[in-house]
Amino acid sequence: MSYNSFEVAQKQVLEASVLLKLDSNTTELLLWPQREYKFTIPVKMDNKSIKIFHGYRIHYNTARGPAKGGIRFHQDETVDTVRALACWMTWKTAIADLPLGGGKGGVICDPKKLSAEELENIARNYVRAAADFIGPEKDIPAPDVYTNPQTMVWMMDEYETITRKHQPGVFTDKPLQVGGTEGRRDATARGGVYTVREACKHFGVNSKGTYVIQGFGNAGQRAALLHQEIIGGGKLIAVSDSKGGIYNPDGLNPKELVVYKLKNGNVNNFPGSTNIKKEEVLETEADILYPAALENAINENNADRIRARIICELANGPTTPEADIILYKNNKIVLPDILSSAGGVIVSYFEMVQDKYSYFWPEDTVHSRLDQKITKAFWSVIEAMKEKRVHPRLAAMIVGVARVAEACKLRGWI
Ligand code: GLU
Repeated sequence: MSYNSFEVAQKQVLEASVLLKLDSNTTELLLWPQREYKFTIPVKMDNKSIKIFHGYRIHYNTARGPAKGGIRFHQDETVDTVRALACWMTWKTAIADLPLGGGKGGVICDPKKLSAEELENIARNYVRAAADFIGPEKDIPAPDVYTNPQTMVWMMDEYETITRKHQPGVFTDKPLQVGGTEGRRDATARGGVYTVREACKHFGVNSKGTYVIQGFGNAGQRAALLHQEIIGGGKLIAVSDSKGGIYNPDGLNPKELVVYKLKNGNVNNFPGSTNIKKEEVLETEADILYPAALENAINENNADRIRARIICELANGPTTPEADIILYKNNKIVLPDILSSAGGVIVSYFEMVQDKYSYFWPEDTVHSRLDQKITKAFWSVIEAMKEKRVHPRLAAMIVGVARVAEACKLRGWI
């Protein structure tokens, strides 16, 4: 079965708007992107030929502030994946109570088949096509799947070249030397671990027990390391990446595994572990599971086999609505992406603030302000959960949708 992520996202909006008793105009407004841009991107390839790529930037809702969200380079990108991700960013920034809206962008391409120069050409040409509708006061992109701080510098440089002035706050998650902030690279994982810490307290789960990571990219690797650092314990017993999975009931050393992955490109055959199927990693018995790969990994086909007690979503959209219901029935606690992966955009917001006044905070200030923001967001979701007697994702949607609906109303849009 294949899933359309935007249909999933719209279903979630509908559910929340029914519980919030929103009128039909408000619901209609929140069910669709406010603005969509689609462009072709001609790119000079290494062999001097020109190839046309397709790009998107979507502003889902800007009632609370400028659009904010990543740009992905992925071969499976479609207008609907970008819409879904832009939609989720809208609730994510609202739940974290940031003065920002939601947006997302993407380019259909396979970055693994492109050279660094070709990727730079795509990044710069994306900005040439999008320059009119991005900007520090309009729409601030960041990295996402297969884009990174280097991509952001190319994009920022192109934007500044076009506009003829320094505006580092137009992109976030930049390197420190060009207006980046301390603490951005591990912010998504760090925020996720803070929510796990709070959830373990609230739901009475042993935070120092076992944990599992599905997807071993930036967020997955950082979570593996930070979980032990922040919680002060915990045993990592299974990890997967796109090539396969590994398992060791006695514990995998996160530091050694990160080094191994960097050297070998995947986690297979890590010394002391047993190779297992990547699907089995999701189903491993553990206290905490971190899904940190792509959308729809937990769906109606495998939700019944998920055995972790807390599922902390670091990826965007890893659980389908059908799976949410099964997990809730099975007494599993899902910390939804729009809450638990908000650390990235929270620190992106800190980066924008620092860029604006050109004065930069020390790393521990970033960490403690992130902790405060995401912990507050966590408890507002718990409040909504208790009040409406719904599962955590629906509770988070209720918090986010209510805040955005209120901003739309105050502006006189509805
Ligand atoms: N791409 C990240 C996300 O999905 C970060 C977005 C941002 O910092 O703007 O949350």
